[in-house]
Amino acid sequence: MSTPFTQIPILGMNFIKATNTAFLEQIKKDSLAHKNRFIVTANPEIVLAAQKDSKFADIIAHADYTTADGIGIVKGARILNTPLPERITGYDTMCSLLKWANEQHKKVYFLGAKPAVITDVLKNVHANYPSINISGFHDGYFNDDATIIKEISDTQPDFVFIALGFPKQEFFIAKNRFSSPSIWMGVGGSFDVLAGHVKRAPDFWVNHHIEWLYRLLKEPSRFFRMLALPKYLLLVYKEKFTKK
Ligand code: UDP
Repeated sequence: MSTPFTQIPILGMNFIKATNTAFLEQIKKDSLAHKNRFIVTANPEIVLAAQKDSKFADIIAHADYTTADGIGIVKGARILNTPLPERITGYDTMCSLLKWANEQHKKVYFLGAKPAVITDVLKNVHANYPSINISGFHDGYFNDDATIIKEISDTQPDFVFIALGFPKQEFFIAKNRFSSPSIWMGVGGSFDVLAGHVKRAPDFWVNHHIEWLYRLLKEPSRFFRMLALPKYLLLVYKEKFTKK
């Protein structure tokens, strides 16, 4: 583990205690030094999945940085009296890094999402981050890693953003990250948002911590996935009271 940040454990997962600014500065430093880094942005659903799947938990334990992606993690840390400063979401982090990669003329590889989505991701990147050097891309529906890994290894991108959803993207990164000294990051559904296929909740919903409700109204099929949040909070309270 190479993190310079304090680790805050929640239900067995270690989160970095960092602000968005401090975290981004660290990643920029790592990138300029061509460090190999693996970033996980974890929400309560991921914490629960790791509790059930020890292989997944082990993979996350070997990531360099696990950030608090969602208010549920920030709340959990507060309940356990080990507060985290703020959320560090996958989507915001990816956008900040794209902005910086554009300023620095960095190389970026994009892997994941449906073919129509990745096509629109590339259009967006060309339009909004014209100085980024796109070292390659592939949609997220493939059977064999080999061609993709060869392309990444041949082009040595500075950043590899992987949108396969969890736990697929984390397993993929853990298996392949040493093919290139890049910053590797799992970004879940972020390509769908970047492509404009899925709308992010407007500020009102985000500021009132009801982004989850907005998403639920837009995609009711997510209902069962969202039951993770109360289940997670219950386990956090259990951890709090059994610790004492
Ligand atoms: N996906 C993919 N390949 C797969 C399964 C999923 O590329 O085999 C993509 C899917 O198209 C979507 C993303 O992974 O773009 C997962 O999105 P979701 O909103 O479920 O992720 P979350 O942010 O909730 O982890």
